[in-house]
Amino acid sequence: MLLVHWLPLMVSASPGKQQALVALGGNIGDVLAHFRHARDALRAHDRIDVVRFSPVYRSTALGPPQDDYLNAVIMLQTYLPALELLDVLQAIEQQCQRRRLQHWGPRTLDLDIIDYAGCQYQDERLILPHPQAHRRRFVLQPLRDIAPSWQHPVFACSPDVLLQALLDQMLICVHDCW
Ligand code: ADP
Ligand code: MG
Repeated sequence: MLLVHWLPLMVSASPGKQQALVALGGNIGDVLAHFRHARDALRAHDRIDVVRFSPVYRSTALGPPQDDYLNAVIMLQTYLPALELLDVLQAIEQQCQRRRLQHWGPRTLDLDIIDYAGCQYQDERLILPHPQAHRRRFVLQPLRDIAPSWQHPVFACSPDVLLQALLDQMLICVHDCW
């Protein structure tokens, strides 16, 4: 469940190749293997280029008590519209046996679109930018590692500025290379 907290706007990307930032998370099974599977599957897609990927971090879980998460962010370029990119990401989640049993519950692999070409968009399947991203150190720190000059499409500020308010959230870099 995602909470909407800004006015729904519909700002479309121009046609052509678009940059997207995708957050990876997981805390069931061999999560690093799930991350590698996701990266390989994105690389193998003929309409997606993986541009760069962040180190992997460990964070304390939100929601019900559960194991720590691993987190990372991938920057990609794609000719796919945002909703088709979401289809691809959800298919990759399913390949890792993702089950949706509990809100914010444990998961093998979670793939969220944090930003797609700076768009602001909302329908029943997709909210852009991701409405919780600005509150999550485990999203913004790896995003900052690979895109320090990124600007949040709603708040118009950098990840460094947003991170200043989040330094009390536990986050440890566990794999520089993966
Ligand atoms: P969460 O990531 O919030 O823990 P899920 O991964 O189960 O929860 O996703 C719930 C729904 O959120 C998905 O079915 C998807 O349609 C929707 N959703 C809305 N915006 C986004 C986004 N930016 N990225 C990924 N999923 C999104
Ligand atoms: Mg998700």
